Amino acid sequence: MSNLQLPVATLGTPRIGLKRDLKFALESYWAGKTDQTALLQTAAELRAANWARQKARGVDIIPSNDFSLYDQMLDTSFMVGAIPAIYGAKADLGTYFAMARGSQKSHTETCEHGHVHHHGHGVPAQEMTKWFDTNYHYMVPEFTRDQTFHLTSFKPLDEFLEAKRQGYHTRPVLVGPVTFLKLGKSTDEGFDPLSLIDRLAPVYVDILTRLRDAGADWVQVDEPVLALDGEPAITAALKVAYATFAEQVPGLKIIVASYFGGLEENLDTAVGLPVAGLHIDLVRKPQQLNPVLDRAPEGLVLSLGVIDGRNIWRADLAAIVDTLEPVIAAHGKDRFQIAPSCSLLHVPIDLDLEDALDADVRSWLAFSVQKMSELVTVAGALRGGYEDSVSSLALLDDSTQAAAARRTSAKIHNKAVAARLAAVTAADGQRKSAFAARARVQRAQFALPAFPTTTIGSFPQTAEVRKARSAHARGELSAEGYEAFLKAETARAVAWQEEIGLDVLVHGEFERNDMVQYFGEQLSGFAFTKHGWVQSYGSRYVRPPVLFGDVSRPKPMTVQWWWFAQSLTGKPVKGMLTGPVTILNWSFVRDDQPRSESCRQIALAIRDEVADLEAAGCRMIQIDEAALREGLPLRHRDWQTYLDWAVESFRLCASGVADETQIHTHMCYSEFNAIMDAIAAMDADVISIETSRSKMELLDVFTSKKYPNEIGPGVYDIHSPRVPEVTEMTGLMSLARQRLDDTQLWVNPDCGLKTRKWEEVKPALVNMVAAAKALREDA
Ligand code: GLN
Ligand code: ZN
Repeated sequence: MSNLQLPVATLGTPRIGLKRDLKFALESYWAGKTDQTALLQTAAELRAANWARQKARGVDIIPSNDFSLYDQMLDTSFMVGAIPAIYGAKADLGTYFAMARGSQKSHTETCEHGHVHHHGHGVPAQEMTKWFDTNYHYMVPEFTRDQTFHLTSFKPLDEFLEAKRQGYHTRPVLVGPVTFLKLGKSTDEGFDPLSLIDRLAPVYVDILTRLRDAGADWVQVDEPVLALDGEPAITAALKVAYATFAEQVPGLKIIVASYFGGLEENLDTAVGLPVAGLHIDLVRKPQQLNPVLDRAPEGLVLSLGVIDGRNIWRADLAAIVDTLEPVIAAHGKDRFQIAPSCSLLHVPIDLDLEDALDADVRSWLAFSVQKMSELVTVAGALRGGYEDSVSSLALLDDSTQAAAARRTSAKIHNKAVAARLAAVTAADGQRKSAFAARARVQRAQFALPAFPTTTIGSFPQTAEVRKARSAHARGELSAEGYEAFLKAETARAVAWQEEIGLDVLVHGEFERNDMVQYFGEQLSGFAFTKHGWVQSYGSRYVRPPVLFGDVSRPKPMTVQWWWFAQSLTGKPVKGMLTGPVTILNWSFVRDDQPRSESCRQIALAIRDEVADLEAAGCRMIQIDEAALREGLPLRHRDWQTYLDWAVESFRLCASGVADETQIHTHMCYSEFNAIMDAIAAMDADVISIETSRSKMELLDVFTSKKYPNEIGPGVYDIHSPRVPEVTEMTGLMSLARQRLDDTQLWVNPDCGLKTRKWEEVKPALVNMVAAAKALREDA
């Protein structure tokens, strides 16, 4: 392989399995139905399948250690021994999953074989947050000022050797030490985790040395921090780390991978690192090729990220080859590797499984294995001098034709949508009265108690719910049977909410597979896949809709469910919608028009739904914008432009209602510090946010900015099976009351409850209602 010119690399592959094998293996293990051996066996089979798939497609540089049982950042915390004391000292699977998911005191994990795992019981999960601007969540590493590191897990080595035994000479992947520290956090005041680089680097030296000694010649070290704003501390840490590796692990070739953006102000830092290779993202930032070529030292191998690892469109391969041809002619074939823009983790696995997609749409798409073939075609054409190679010429032509067909397809362009968008005025994005006036009529109308309680929308998606859905999808359960089942679930949820004394109810979202997919399936302009799963976090995967054309809403999407739930109760039931920015950010979206334009189209479609809910009598409408923050560009200078059109889109969908109609919004994982003005500008009457894991610290900005509208700061961390005590929640609320006015506050969980079990949800919400009552007595 070392002699091969223009080798093809993937940087990383989806790890979940064609049939969501990892999810099912994890869930079965967590439920105590299978043991550790079975879980690890499935994991090994998935790795083997990934290696075989890449080999079969002609990939030259196959990664190892791109697999993870839960998350690669958690793996890295484990590898370097950054395991907070509350999880205990034992670096085993019980501890690993306790860090990932938290752990209930009363709950003992006893496996089939009678092993009782008693590590880290009664502990909360580590914080989870978005991986850069993707919808992948990682577990946030935690550091202390006196943090020490030592090589605790040999996973990269084990997986390298595992591949080797199967005949694959792999390029192991590590999360880079600087990215690892930069994305971590510390509760120690005034302490920058990056200052730990001197202590962390030796652990990386240890694992790198072991990899080299085991036969690895290249190691890929991911440093996506290079796509963030340049910072002296990052630059310094990168220099220290990579100088240490160069000096202490001679003979090992390191390729530093940047992705999700251009190097820009980090260009000199990146090309100046004493490493053998550098990967650059030429999809997000094609303009950086020439500057990188100008600045990179002669010997630096460049991995060219030319196939989009973040989206599912088939590439115009001839255009890529035309761009690269002169570059390669000028600089030599030995200088380059051909790669996707980033790991293929963020795209579905195989388009070949999609037998039900519209044929035209399908012909415009490429998933991970198709992208592997695209890379191989590009490399083949560039290696051979593509004019000589009949077969690669045909493949290039094919992709060019598909690109041209997509550009002109009537399935994409809808004149009515364009006309409506052109007629939008500023007034369309403006509520009739200001918040204070709206709040007056709303408070009089609803007459809610102080600290009103509500939930975020979904209730547990139990095995029965999923079974009914798939039976219906397979045609084994009639439409009437399925609807009757969903109505029974909804009715039970409504009755139960009344019984425990919640103030504002939800219908439970049992009919929804996913908060974005559900809407995508009912809007024109979206296509959806059968098997296009991508990992959102741990064992949770989503199937993002494919936004391929102009968007419109043929008919109401949620009104009947709201109506049914409201007919069962005298308490208000919230209408429940997903907002335009979130639909956009959680879909694979068109690359043939600006994101802002697609977003406005979705906003108008949701506006129609808001109007129909209101007309049906709904007085509280929640429009979730869970993904607003994660759409932020990675560099600050690009933020305002995004926030402007994101807020405008939200207002466009929410502002068509009367003052009496209370607009709620919900956001999870949000740190609002830098975007508070935009949050306020959305002008939702009530916002519910994620705060329980951060001990209400996230509220500080609502205080300092004197946020005027109402807020429900989450008091129950729904990402963990743990049931919070009443006092824990009143404690959190008293922290909130230090920061906000009582009249502003609602009491609710952090997020929807669909991933939880009823056994967890019931006691937790009973406690939450009790907490609100205690607050009322105290107020
Ligand atoms: N209404 C959605 C739910 O409750 C919100 C989910 C989310 O914000 N991720 O599931
Ligand atoms: Zn949420």
